[in-house]
Amino acid sequence: MAGTGIRIAIIGGGLTGATLANALFHVPGLAVHVYESAPTFSERGASVALSTNALQALKQVIPASTELLARAGAVPMNSSRARLGSGPLAGTLVVEMGGGVESGVGVHRAALLRELLAPLPPSLLHANKKLTSLAQNKVGDGEVEVRFEDGTVERFDAVIGADGIFSSVRNYVLGDDAARHAPSPAGWWDCRVLVSFEKAKATIGEQYFDMPRQNAWMGDGGFILHDVLDGGKTVQLAICLVEKEPPKERKRPLTSEMLNEALRGWLDGPIAKAAIELIVDQPNLHGYSEWEHKSTPTYANGRVCIVGDAAHATTPWQGAGAGQAFEDAVILGHLMSNLSSDPNDTTRPVDKIAAAFQAFDAVRRPRCQRVIDSSRSTGLLTCGQDPDVGLDPDKLRAAFAGRWNFIFSLDLEEYKQEALDMMKQLLA
Ligand SMILES: Cc1cc2nc3c(=O)[nH]c(=O)nc-3n(C[C@H](O)[C@H](O)[C@H](O)COP(=O)(O)OP(=O)(O)OC[C@H]3O[C@@H](n4cnc5c(N)ncnc54)[C@H](O)[C@@H]3O)c2cc1C
Repeated sequence: MAGTGIRIAIIGGGLTGATLANALFHVPGLAVHVYESAPTFSERGASVALSTNALQALKQVIPASTELLARAGAVPMNSSRARLGSGPLAGTLVVEMGGGVESGVGVHRAALLRELLAPLPPSLLHANKKLTSLAQNKVGDGEVEVRFEDGTVERFDAVIGADGIFSSVRNYVLGDDAARHAPSPAGWWDCRVLVSFEKAKATIGEQYFDMPRQNAWMGDGGFILHDVLDGGKTVQLAICLVEKEPPKERKRPLTSEMLNEALRGWLDGPIAKAAIELIVDQPNLHGYSEWEHKSTPTYANGRVCIVGDAAHATTPWQGAGAGQAFEDAVILGHLMSNLSSDPNDTTRPVDKIAAAFQAFDAVRRPRCQRVIDSSRSTGLLTCGQDPDVGLDPDKLRAAFAGRWNFIFSLDLEEYKQEALDMMKQLLA
């Protein structure tokens, strides 16, 4: 393994691993490598909506993030409009959020990953490297031993798991508690497709495409979303439905009959028929159960920690998962940049890593858990499943008011300081 300094392995090269690598690779004294199990660094799936906190965090990691997002074809969301999609009031506008300088963006996941990887020296990126096991404290000087599926073994000063919801690093970090805090079905399944802008406009209705925005439809037992990406050329269409009895398999084939049956109460409304028509027109159609981490007792174990979906996988109802991953990168980047900030300090930087990871856990876990819990209850509201609110537009408006505030209003400078103070306290 090339490089001198504190040797750090990031396991997983998705949006989290790539963002974190950007936060760490230019920090003096760190030698960072990213290991991805797939044959190439790639993203599946459709778009990701990045709200203001996500954009702010990304800017901290990559100051030229506006240009990066433009290269990825990100489209300003301008606003997010939610209407009723089923029932006697179908079509009623319930809430409109965002707009102006506060607007987030929608971006194709694969294009975003491509641009996040672009600034990283290729010598740091290792594809086809699947981690199979970890061990620490058995080897010299607190190193962490990493075994890969190809039989190779490497030693690092620290390992950061960005290996997604079914993370192996998470299992290591949680040890005997891992099974108790394993990911589990959240209560919905969804399908997402990409269609051309012109086709979406013709099928759904041009009144919804006057400018790029996120259009959401809330209704009985489900939710439909369409938004614009790829510089305005593509529309993402998603149908999410309540799942009372999750099947064992997360992924299952999807048919037109299944969608028509699930959206039976929506078919007279303004969106369901068009959405089903656009979705079933796609090849290789699948539905996916939404899973989440309902609880996680820690993100850190010695010199190993977890970030992104490995630590805090959430449902997509507040569009907040990637933003939390970017915030992870900011906080961990700040802590790792400050391992050797005090010239009078005689403790070796490498011996402070465990405290940095503990501080990361202390400041990040409560916020991420709040996002997970809030997102789940937002999903219940959105699908008319809250018994006190139902699909009453006024009650929905009241329930949605201020719901995103705690996510958007984070003061990153204060938050970074809080993390640093925590690390100093742990080292004192
Ligand atoms: C349907 C859906 C919609 C979403 N919409 C939004 C949204 O609008 N806005 C938002 O902010 N967030 C959204 N999210 C959340 C966001 O997409 C995720 O939080 C984010 O993509 C997580 O990235 P990650 O890199 O942590 O995990 P992943 O994308 O899962 O990446 C993990 C990587 O690790 C690799 N890996 C796994 N195991 C190993 C191993 N043993 N060794 C080496 N590599 C390994 C995998 O191959 C993969 O490349 C959504 C999520 C879902 C499911």
